[in-house]
Amino acid sequence: MTTTTHPRSGATHDGVPHYPVHRNLSPCPAEQRQQVLDAPRFGTRFTDHMARARWTPDTGWADRRVEAYGPLRLDPAAAVLHYGQEIFEGLKVYRHGDGSVWAFRPALNAARFAASARRLALPELDTDDFLASIAALVNADVDWVPTLPGSSLYLRPFMIASEAFLGVRPAAQVDYLVIASPAASYFGGGFEPVSIWVADGQHRAGPGGTGAAKCGGNYAASLLPQQQAAEHGCDQVCFLDAATNTLLEEIGSMNVLVVTDDGTVHTPELSGTILSGVTRRSVLDLLREQGRTVSERPIPLAEVREGLREGTVTEVFACGTAAVITPIGRLAGAGFDLTVGDGSPGPITSALHATLTGIQYGTSADVHGWMRRLV
Ligand SMILES: *Cc1c(COP(=O)(O)O)cnc(C)c1O
Repeated sequence: MTTTTHPRSGATHDGVPHYPVHRNLSPCPAEQRQQVLDAPRFGTRFTDHMARARWTPDTGWADRRVEAYGPLRLDPAAAVLHYGQEIFEGLKVYRHGDGSVWAFRPALNAARFAASARRLALPELDTDDFLASIAALVNADVDWVPTLPGSSLYLRPFMIASEAFLGVRPAAQVDYLVIASPAASYFGGGFEPVSIWVADGQHRAGPGGTGAAKCGGNYAASLLPQQQAAEHGCDQVCFLDAATNTLLEEIGSMNVLVVTDDGTVHTPELSGTILSGVTRRSVLDLLREQGRTVSERPIPLAEVREGLREGTVTEVFACGTAAVITPIGRLAGAGFDLTVGDGSPGPITSALHATLTGIQYGTSADVHGWMRRLV
């Protein structure tokens, strides 16, 4: 898709989409903002601005702008409220020691957003457009990027079917928005292993479904199994594949990896029901560079259970933007309850966390060119 040249699009002559800033006239007072930044609680407070654009078949993407953060005007018949035609992304921007602000591989989020849009019959947004929207928002709200160690500004781009129409077909009016929320270090200093409950007979995605798209509907389906995991005393839920109920898929909103005693790292292949994580891809890139064998394949739960009992599975961890790397200390489910290694984070898990966060916070060299400067 090329950038629209419609007069209301805000596109500049060189074709780079432009998000003009309409300043919030009553921004959060600096003192209050500082209180939020000193103790961010994920997803509870948002910055002064949001980026947005609107799509219709006639205009293409148009009305790009950054404006005051605030409630949406949405018709009660808006299609998203009835049929869930919605997608989202999640990425963080990091403050470096010199004050500059950087995003981690945001073009991969842009590409995934476009892929999710295709699956949900939503209009695609160009990578340039996606990157311009986040850069404009982060520049407008740069004072909201925290400086505490391990903190970041979490960006949530999303797209909703806003057409007021109850017929079942792709909406002819779609809104794109980006909101931002300061986030603290996920582990609050410690690097604590979590416990996992393997969902028994409930799935987040099936073959041919929307599992590979980042859409709200997948999350709605995951809430009850997550609640059941908590009832079993576990932090997170692990889903098995819907077709056979035997293969590992994902852990909550993270991809899962298993390390065996020969140093090989195994992870479920992207079979169409699994979300292709930016963190997953980066972890696999780093491991291959280090000369490790990486095996992307179907992973039976039975194999992992046996490996844990026999000691041939040495580490299990999950990865995703929120926590980067999450060590798993315990794997339980109907009829089993197993400790991973001695229950503490393993060496490969810990090293990956250090390497990735070093690149993200600019304390290690970004030899891959993964970081993109926004401010
Ligand atoms: C977002 C997400 C992930 C992790 O992807 P990252 O790009 O690494 O943050 C994994 N699984 C699901 C279901 C997700 O929605």
